[in-house]
Amino acid sequence: MIHHHPTDDFLLALAAGRLAPGQALLVSVHLESCAACCARLHALQAVGGALLEDAEPQLLAPESLARTLERIDSPPPPARAPLARPVQGPALPAGVQWPASLRGCAISRWHWMGPGMRFARIALPQEKDGTLWALQIGPGRSLAQHSHTRLELTQVLCGSFRDGRSAFGPGDFDVTDPDVLHQPVVDEGATCVCLAYVEGKLRFEGRIAGLIGGWIGM
Ligand SMILES: [Zn+2]
Repeated sequence: MIHHHPTDDFLLALAAGRLAPGQALLVSVHLESCAACCARLHALQAVGGALLEDAEPQLLAPESLARTLERIDSPPPPARAPLARPVQGPALPAGVQWPASLRGCAISRWHWMGPGMRFARIALPQEKDGTLWALQIGPGRSLAQHSHTRLELTQVLCGSFRDGRSAFGPGDFDVTDPDVLHQPVVDEGATCVCLAYVEGKLRFEGRIAGLIGGWIGM
């Protein structure tokens, strides 16, 4: 059961191609497991189409028709292989796979970031504003208390945590900004793996956590 979803602003911006690559990727990963947001996105797109139909006609550039016809005549892109191979990345808890949206992204091996905690870097060649991480945190472990200089998006792949604001489980999506100071604590019983997209930096409260964060570049 998914309780936390991207807002309509995120879904509309994704549909319009206006999200930064890292943000688009996290919303896409959410859509892979959330039928409610897929339906919502389709509804929003239908509304957008209806608004376009109602819009006043505008004069097009002279070459627009020729360009459109050219596109229609050009051969379609090659069809996707029917059985795509699983996304390659470091080991995940049993039964969990890397989301298909990460296809084509280079995922590093797991690196130590504290007792029971690992991180992997996910390379996004087109991303200019942020960094993408996978975090694996063991049962009962917690990330140091931190705020954010700009924005952090989180998508839970497995396991669950609470951070004082709410509880987050598999499939949940979260947005935090400079107003949020939180400490995610993983529930007992299962390891939690999240994708985290960070614009700016995390601002850790403790000195050691700050040093580790700085060393990792988070
Ligand atoms: Zn959703």
